[in-house]
Amino acid sequence: MNFDLARVRADFPILSREVNGQPLAYLDSAASAQKPLAVINAESHFYQHGYAAVHRGIHTLSAEATTAMENVRNQAARFLNAASPEEIVFVKGTTEGINLVASSWGGSQLQAGDNIIITQMEHHANIVPWQMVAKRVGAEIRVLPLTPQGELDVAQLPSLIDSRTRILAVTQVSNVLGSINPVKALVAVAKAAGVVTLIDGAQAVMHEQVDVQDIDCDFYVFSGHKIYGPTGIGVLYGRKALLDQMPPWEGGGSMIATVSLTEGTSFAAAPWRFEAGTPNTGGIIGLGAALAYVAALGLDNIQQREQMLMRYALDKLASVPDLIIYGPQQRAGVIAFNLGRHHAYDVGSFLDQYGIAIRTGHHCAMPLMNYYQVPAMCRASFAMYNSEEEADRLVAGLLRIHRLLGG
Ligand code: PMP
Repeated sequence: MNFDLARVRADFPILSREVNGQPLAYLDSAASAQKPLAVINAESHFYQHGYAAVHRGIHTLSAEATTAMENVRNQAARFLNAASPEEIVFVKGTTEGINLVASSWGGSQLQAGDNIIITQMEHHANIVPWQMVAKRVGAEIRVLPLTPQGELDVAQLPSLIDSRTRILAVTQVSNVLGSINPVKALVAVAKAAGVVTLIDGAQAVMHEQVDVQDIDCDFYVFSGHKIYGPTGIGVLYGRKALLDQMPPWEGGGSMIATVSLTEGTSFAAAPWRFEAGTPNTGGIIGLGAALAYVAALGLDNIQQREQMLMRYALDKLASVPDLIIYGPQQRAGVIAFNLGRHHAYDVGSFLDQYGIAIRTGHHCAMPLMNYYQVPAMCRASFAMYNSEEEADRLVAGLLRIHRLLGG
């Protein structure tokens, strides 16, 4: 493995600040990752030297900004191994990407009596848009359940699929359990039955190399802010044949071919048809810098480093009495837990006093909380810049809370 932790940490200025008089241990990257200087500087440089409205501008700055933005589309296509940059739609994030597909593809393709398959471990972003479109058209939502180990019960998928199943929407990595789902196998089962597939990659792209052609999915979505890029920008990959058939979902400037008050409007080709209005160009530039940063480190190196840290943390956490850990042994990025009978908010507030940032609550996955019969969980997430020492501090903090409050 080729990974220089000290150098990587030095790229993230915020990691050297203090919180409550303690060095910050940032264990909340699954909610949003911190940003390296490469991203901060790229965005700042763009605003200082290259900014203008994109598309149709005749002046130099506009042409340069348009080229810079379209270069990031190419880069995102390479990052996901899409067949063409025209399969990349810029969106605000995973949430908007899924809403786009549910609204445009779902709204035009789903009919009363059709069904949509999601899973018990989805983030609300991959539940609610499907419920909304299902209600509108009279479709049914079916749910692939979990095994007691916190993995998808993949064997049950064939029995959920019937002739009215139209789409399978599944997360690649659970934002709560860290379970790594066998998306390629799931897509193969769906495809064999003629079912369209969408993969929520929000918790996957920063942990492993993703190849949409290898997975063979129809749609793939991720958010820039979780892969060390800016907020407010994300990517929807859509198979060209599908995007070409899909109607626009938002109307406005930039997504049209012609507009006439008497003859109506004709629309631009995909992907631009799905990008109405002035785009988040600064965010797109920052996303490009983030993808370049990750590519330079190498996702294989990142994955090896993170897997080592995950094993270390799980091993050390085993020494904390009354700690309940949710999810499988083999996992990416996150460790969700509860400390005995204590509410996650109390545990999280104590840890914050020790300078340790974790997330507490339902993690936008209420159906999963329901499955485990808990109102909330604590979640420590581990990114490539986290250290063994930070895992030790989490363990020491939990032991201290246990001493103070009991089990
Ligand atoms: N899906 C998963 C698995 C997530 O973890 C998240 C973010 N917590 C989302 C979707 C939504 O992402 P965003 O808020 O960036 O749109």
